[in-house]
Amino acid sequence: MVNLAIIGAGVGGCAAAFFASKIFPNLKVTIFDLSDRVGGRVLTQAIGSMKLELGAAFFNTANKTVLNVVEDLGLKVREVEERADFGIWNGSDFLLKSNKNIILTLSKLFLRYGLNIVKMQSLLKEIRGQVKNLYEAEQKNPVEMNELFKFAGLDGFYRKKLDEILAEWSIDESFINEVITPITRIIYSQNADMGGFAGLSSLISVYTGKTYNFIEGNSVFPKRLMNASNSELLFSQNVRSIEKKNDGSYRISVENKTSTFDGVIIATPLELTGLALDGISMTEYHPREYRRVYIQVIQGKAIPSFFGSKDTGSLPRMILTTSETKQIMHIATLRLANGEDLMTISSTELLPDDILDGMIRNRYVILEHSWNAAYPLFKPIDNIPHSRLDERLMYLNSLESAVSSMETSVFSALNAIRMMKDELR
Ligand SMILES: Cc1cc2nc3c(=O)[nH]c(=O)nc-3n(C[C@H](O)[C@H](O)[C@H](O)COP(=O)(O)OP(=O)(O)OC[C@H]3O[C@@H](n4cnc5c(N)ncnc54)[C@H](O)[C@@H]3O)c2cc1C
Repeated sequence: MVNLAIIGAGVGGCAAAFFASKIFPNLKVTIFDLSDRVGGRVLTQAIGSMKLELGAAFFNTANKTVLNVVEDLGLKVREVEERADFGIWNGSDFLLKSNKNIILTLSKLFLRYGLNIVKMQSLLKEIRGQVKNLYEAEQKNPVEMNELFKFAGLDGFYRKKLDEILAEWSIDESFINEVITPITRIIYSQNADMGGFAGLSSLISVYTGKTYNFIEGNSVFPKRLMNASNSELLFSQNVRSIEKKNDGSYRISVENKTSTFDGVIIATPLELTGLALDGISMTEYHPREYRRVYIQVIQGKAIPSFFGSKDTGSLPRMILTTSETKQIMHIATLRLANGEDLMTISSTELLPDDILDGMIRNRYVILEHSWNAAYPLFKPIDNIPHSRLDERLMYLNSLESAVSSMETSVFSALNAIRMMKDELR
């Protein structure tokens, strides 16, 4: 029997275990995670009957990898509707607010941005089609991501910045600053001068098609993948090193224990783990910088004038921000039955009291969470580094140089397992 180790029980590692169990039922899979929970950057927190997503919030349907698995596992998803109620805030005023009637919202957008809306739709429609080709190419022939991206005609996008790509499509600067940047800030806490493919994928998520999350909370997704895989899951296991042995197997060290496996899948960003690879060349891999993100959930009475709003009614459900708002990336608001507001603020620095005092009266903190490394600070790259580090050693998060999401972690897991078909039999 072939023994496979997976390092990391995030959605990528759990998906790898799930696909491995489906495709190679005779495999013995052991998953190591340094924490004491499944999910990594997918983390649902219940507050009363509400479910708050502190990490990955939704997935889109530009491709079918997650949807196929969702169907397979019988999980229930719901369409995210809150995004229809939004305002774009520049730190002092709302530049634009959506209307309950979608036609009126679209008319407002057309009046302000004219043809940019149409140009953007056709660019994203084209890319959505290419993304579909990426998945079809993978189905036919699992190979390294850079080859799949090249085949789908998508490789040019990770070599440029998003704003450069948009300028080539004659998208106006005002549209980039007031509409595109607020979207990239909500998805990746970065402005439109970020890496092109990640930037475009965030636009595809929000701009075209529907987005979904899991009714039971997104944490259910990695958990169910894990349970369906029948793997052995070991918590509180900080994997320190992987060493290639002379017979081709790999010795994994956790604290002062070692165990040997025929194959290994690394399902966590290497630059964040301090994991040493012994006897394996890593020349192709340049450490990436990651974005720190704070989530503060605060209850109290929102002060609309802080947002430049004269309207004393409720604020938009989703406040998107331009680059002028500096560290505040987006704010989700909810008017509660007792008339108070629940505000979920996402920022790259913890917001000081004087800003919070201006924003919300009689406030109290419901919860705070800090992600030291939420996603890479995306920059143009020449190529996506290989996921195969060695004959039977795969690295799922090499794809994060170009894009980071639940969907792409699952896609990378499927591709890696299928690339290992000869080794795992
Ligand atoms: C705030 C935030 C918002 C996001 N929003 C979205 C969104 O709306 N939609 C979307 O699709 N994506 C979103 N993402 C991105 C998405 O969450 C990630 O891309 C995805 O979850 C990554 O999964 P992963 O399994 O590859 O890595 P991770 O989830 O990081 O899992 C890695 C696991 O490895 C473990 N580990 C690390 N080092 C070791 C070690 N040495 N030994 C053993 N175990 C180790 C960790 O404990 C962790 O459990 C968001 C992320 C954040 C932080």
